[in-house]
Amino acid sequence: MFSGSSRLLRLIVVTAFVGLLATADLLLSRPSLTTGTVSPQAPRLLVLVVFDQLRGDYLERWQPLFGDDGFNRLMHDGAWFTDCHYPYAYTVTGAGHASLLTGCSPDKHGIVANEWFERGLGGIVNCVDSYGHEQVPSSQATAAEGNRRPRAPGASPERLLAPTVGENLKRATASRARVVSLSFKDRSAILPAGRRADACYWLDGDNGQFVTSTYYRGQPHGWVTGLNRAEPLPANRWFGLDWERLHPQLDYSRYSGPDDMPGEGTGQRQGRTFPHPMSGGSERPGRAYYLALFNSPFGNDLLLTFAKRAIDAERLGNGPAPDLLCISFSSNDAVGHTWGPDSQEVLDVTLRSDLIVRDLLAYLDDRVGPGRYLLALTADHGICPLPEASRSALIPPRRYPPAPVPAERVAADGIDGLANRANRFLNETFAQEGREGQWFEAVLLPWMWLNPGNLRERGLDAATVEKKLADWLARQPGIQVAYTRSQLTAPISPGDELGESIRRSFHPERSGDVYVVLKPYCLFSSPLATGTNHGTPHTYDTHVPLLIYGPGIAGGPHSQRVTPQAIAAIFAHALGIAPPSAAEARVPDGLFGNDE
Ligand SMILES: [Zn+2]
Repeated sequence: MFSGSSRLLRLIVVTAFVGLLATADLLLSRPSLTTGTVSPQAPRLLVLVVFDQLRGDYLERWQPLFGDDGFNRLMHDGAWFTDCHYPYAYTVTGAGHASLLTGCSPDKHGIVANEWFERGLGGIVNCVDSYGHEQVPSSQATAAEGNRRPRAPGASPERLLAPTVGENLKRATASRARVVSLSFKDRSAILPAGRRADACYWLDGDNGQFVTSTYYRGQPHGWVTGLNRAEPLPANRWFGLDWERLHPQLDYSRYSGPDDMPGEGTGQRQGRTFPHPMSGGSERPGRAYYLALFNSPFGNDLLLTFAKRAIDAERLGNGPAPDLLCISFSSNDAVGHTWGPDSQEVLDVTLRSDLIVRDLLAYLDDRVGPGRYLLALTADHGICPLPEASRSALIPPRRYPPAPVPAERVAADGIDGLANRANRFLNETFAQEGREGQWFEAVLLPWMWLNPGNLRERGLDAATVEKKLADWLARQPGIQVAYTRSQLTAPISPGDELGESIRRSFHPERSGDVYVVLKPYCLFSSPLATGTNHGTPHTYDTHVPLLIYGPGIAGGPHSQRVTPQAIAAIFAHALGIAPPSAAEARVPDGLFGNDE
């Protein structure tokens, strides 16, 4: 889930095109001439903190439960933007992390999804699939699992099409600045940093080690190898323990929902209610345990330990030039997917995230010094309530079967996927002497790719079929509207905010032909499934916190509408360098109170 080992098959498709794309890569990495030099007054360290799936309302909702030195310190002493939304429709992890330090949307930075179908390649690719690089150290299952995996394909930022603050900072300082980016998930470490990270690490879910890619360097740093060889391994600290509530005396149901709610999942044999066992059902630490670790607050604790080690080993904030540190805490996302945003588990991981922020700030004060670092805290997307728990929608919220569903399963249990029904509709609409066609080349909802071979054989033009399909989709239960490629490549009508948000999620070579927008509070999900998801243009998915803390920042709440993409311009401004060339979001008015 969070490392590269599952993409082996897809890489077979990708590697055939290595030569072609490596050329494109060279063209993209040409230096800009307008970066400038770093201001002597710049903070010594820029820190980007992401909590994956920390929805925008959580800080207000649970503020009374936080201590003074964590989120509250940032909310009071820093600038707190309470109306911060992603401006694009498909709100997922890869897209969010790519947006923050490029300052732009997927239409420009190209990370339209975590995975997409690429027509030019004829296959599905992951947003950080690399062209020929390898993971180091390579992935090996632990002895407990009894098997060794083949060397895992590496990951890289090669699919990111826009430059980042980190790249501009490296250029402006003749590489004296250090760029370090860390996460549990590979894409969440790779995408914020961009192409010139000095240290970029994530967790290998097979063996609990922190790993990088030969894209960055041939071997991990010595301090990383030291941690990976430590006995006991830092990641194994929670094996066999239980995840209990942080505050046993607090009545969690007053602030969230009941502990056991319909629609909740059970994670890695962790159950629906506290306490949650942390072994993953295994005798010894292995893949199941590392998934349980990911799906608990302790994944964040592990990453904080790793980040502190990085701050010390790389002397971040104490070098010859300002440095950049990106830390993306992933466990909030896993917990939210499993138990939903109104669960006691999400309340608990958020309360524990407050302690992470407290400890990180104290560490930065100690190692870098108060007033010497600028920190931005945000999230990559929000989350939809469990359909079973939603009462606020106008239609009954429910789960809509994703696609495609095999024919035998449709017959067996009556589940009929959207793509199967759409295929039948197109066969009926464009009937040709009983000829049945395969109308889709790929379906990765919300995108559907029409099969161009089928259209050619029938002499149909794509625009006609897209339109029929979109009109049909918009009449289906749970679907609000569908947009076509033809609509998205023409000017969007003035005032069509939804269309504009989908256009910002659209890239002609990486997106499909029809984009489906679900009604609020509905999910693409088997009716038999549990848990919840994000990835819509609805406010529960677009709303995230934005906190900016550091020297020269005017503290307190700000009500102006902003996007988290403004962090790119804010960091560039603090450094005195030009924002990345594709950045669209500007520094919010009045943020740097002591300026000008
Ligand atoms: Zn995410």
